Amino acid sequence: MESKRSWAEPYKIKMVELLKMTTRQEREQAIEEAGFNTFLLKSDDVYIDLLTDSGTSAMSDRQWAAIMMGDEAYAGSKNFYALEDAVQKFYGYKNLVPTHQGRGAEHMLSQLLIKEGDYIPGNMYFTTTRLHQERAGGIFVDVIVDQAHRPQDDFPFKGNVDISKMEKLISDVGADKIPYISLEGNVNMAGGQPFSMANLKELYTLCRQHDILIMLDATRTAENAYFIQQREDGYSDMSVAEILLEICSMTDGCTMSAKKDGLVNIGGFFACNDTELYQKAQNFCVVFEGLHTYGGMAGRDMQALAVGIEESVQDNHQQARIGQVEYLGMQLIKADIPIVRPIGSHAIFLDAKQILPHIDQDDFPAQTLAAELYLESGIRAMERGNVSAGRDPLTGNNRRPELELVRLTIPRRVYTQAHMDVVVESVAEVYKRRQDIKGLTMVFEPEYLRFFQALFTRK
Ligand SMILES: *Cc1c(COP(=O)(O)O)cnc(C)c1O
Repeated sequence: MESKRSWAEPYKIKMVELLKMTTRQEREQAIEEAGFNTFLLKSDDVYIDLLTDSGTSAMSDRQWAAIMMGDEAYAGSKNFYALEDAVQKFYGYKNLVPTHQGRGAEHMLSQLLIKEGDYIPGNMYFTTTRLHQERAGGIFVDVIVDQAHRPQDDFPFKGNVDISKMEKLISDVGADKIPYISLEGNVNMAGGQPFSMANLKELYTLCRQHDILIMLDATRTAENAYFIQQREDGYSDMSVAEILLEICSMTDGCTMSAKKDGLVNIGGFFACNDTELYQKAQNFCVVFEGLHTYGGMAGRDMQALAVGIEESVQDNHQQARIGQVEYLGMQLIKADIPIVRPIGSHAIFLDAKQILPHIDQDDFPAQTLAAELYLESGIRAMERGNVSAGRDPLTGNNRRPELELVRLTIPRRVYTQAHMDVVVESVAEVYKRRQDIKGLTMVFEPEYLRFFQALFTRK
């Protein structure tokens, strides 16, 4: 990678949250009490929390000021109109329905557009997105490019739709069985990997020919716009804001978890251009979320989001946000730590299979690595491997997925470069003593989404 001039955050720190520094002995006790599951640690016992980037952003002084502008009227809050303005201006959609968070919008979209037996193609899946599609009677079909499934493949647009897979689906099941394609920006499950504008243009042409809608999962699409600016021919002179608008102009609507790009701690929305769909969404909202001018959000939170959206499309914000993730990734690569390539937008994924090859996958190498990292220095990461994948319903065996990863997810505007250096040193320290690390035995296994609550002991 070419060497770049140093960058620094485009903000300074006005208020700080003090962290508890723990001893190794205290961490030993905490991780044992948590059954070697980082989801069960108390946040107070964590030094650097890289569990998720969802709802963990630091808000700006302007956003906190917006909180004080909350108009908590039940109907027609002025904060709703401010949010509507921001969505129209920065995403370009005509109509907005707020929801309590992203999955509320996914529920709405799926119930309104999917009929029993419909097919919903997507560039990989996201857990809640697919679940809502299936609950509505839809059948999810993965149409992402093959490169997305290969951790060491350096393809710059691993979020692209494989147009030939899409064409095949259309000819196999018929376009009338495909109400829309669910297109995600910076695909989360692929490691935060973008689609290109060229790919979206091709998809747009195909979908228009067949009357298939394109519904965007806009959760990390401002970050996707930044990658297009950095990597795609013809976009280096355009701003992130302009690129985001161009993306949205080729889509028919979106669902949004505002807890990511939106720089707020809670919230989401559904947006679209079609009037009839909008009316149906407003009506659905009353049943499941709240009145259509708040949809489960407090007025103050809508105002903070309106400001957060504007801040999220600033070039210097994205440069610092993605620059920090890239910094962490590059330092780990320099330390010879195996990570998933290329470096994505919101997280670094450690390849636990390569780091702990002597631990059988049924002794949970990634779960073990996450626990060791916490023990080393109080850093909390998340397992994305055999525990998360669960069991095959037919055989009852662990799924033993291809990817056995530990995710280090970076909250926006929260940690400094010095924190990132501590992360690198801690990973390197664990890596050095990797041969002495033994696996874990699962001693409690919940029925659903076991990774959240499973308990383990040392082998
Ligand atoms: C987080 C997320 C969602 C779900 O949003 P919530 O706000 O957690 O309900 C949907 N899609 C993607 C890509 C996400 O990352």
